[in-house]
Amino acid sequence: MKEADIRNRDTFNEYIRLSELDAETYFADRSKYFSIDCPACGSQGKPYLEKNSFKYQTCPTCDSFYVSPRPPIEQFEAYYVDSPSTKYWVEYFFKPMIDARRVKMFQPRAKFLADRLDNDGLTIGDVGAGFGLFLSELKKIRPNNSLVAIEPSVDMSKLCREEGLEVIPSLLEEITDKVEFFDVLTAFELFEHLNDPRDFVQKIHGLLKPGGTFLFTTLNGLGFDIQMLQEKSKSISPPHHLNFFNPNSVKVLLKNCGFDHVEVETPGILDWDIVEGMHKNEEVDLGPFWEKLSKSGSVEAKQDLQQWISRNGYSSHMRVIAKKEVK
Ligand SMILES: [Zn+2]
Repeated sequence: MKEADIRNRDTFNEYIRLSELDAETYFADRSKYFSIDCPACGSQGKPYLEKNSFKYQTCPTCDSFYVSPRPPIEQFEAYYVDSPSTKYWVEYFFKPMIDARRVKMFQPRAKFLADRLDNDGLTIGDVGAGFGLFLSELKKIRPNNSLVAIEPSVDMSKLCREEGLEVIPSLLEEITDKVEFFDVLTAFELFEHLNDPRDFVQKIHGLLKPGGTFLFTTLNGLGFDIQMLQEKSKSISPPHHLNFFNPNSVKVLLKNCGFDHVEVETPGILDWDIVEGMHKNEEVDLGPFWEKLSKSGSVEAKQDLQQWISRNGYSSHMRVIAKKEVK
């Protein structure tokens, strides 16, 4: 898989341009911004980098980095409900790639979870289900489970219903009538957006049955493409991406919230392609070694590099499986 398989460069750049304009509109009132300590371990951070007038702090203890000071939740709600960049993302970025994403991203994810389910008759919820692609693919492989899309957007939750899924049309944080209800909860590419990751993980823990599983993907802030590109990385995109954990710090967070067994892998396969694409198409300076590799390195050398990155925990795409203790 290549970066171009799942996102078009021009469309992505236009989305980033609109996001920057929206950031000025929706997040202009800075009087309500508040500072936070490291969302993984609670240590006090120090200044790291600045982008689109948002500041990131880095944690000297666990190397997470995160937006601080942060805008209040109301500004995010207004932004995600009806900003031009959010609409553009749905219409021009996501929808045209929906079939490609279904095949290249959601089918493998569904298979990954299906292979790990010991039996059927489970209650499985997907938080931030979007168009319901993950659950509808899972349903094809393992039809005998109860599948619940947790999706606050009116438009997207409607599409989830059309996929035949049960829908809870709210934010996870707003679910108050269910305790130890789910066998499995998933959340794909959501964690980096969370205003309060610890609160979110505690809520997940409370909603899972004893022995239940929380499977999620997020960005690894110590991953190859993010570290190579720093503030030029399109993953470092405030106000969307607020939290950059890493394989160690995400374990600290989950264990502090009561999960007793946590596995982290970095199965990403796009790091080198993203870095090379920024050098070739957007004139990003990588330094002499990497530029020579880009120019004259063999296909095999580049594939080996990517495999090394993924195998050793250095891909920017991280997958986490956490288990709640059995009582
Ligand atoms: Zn920390």
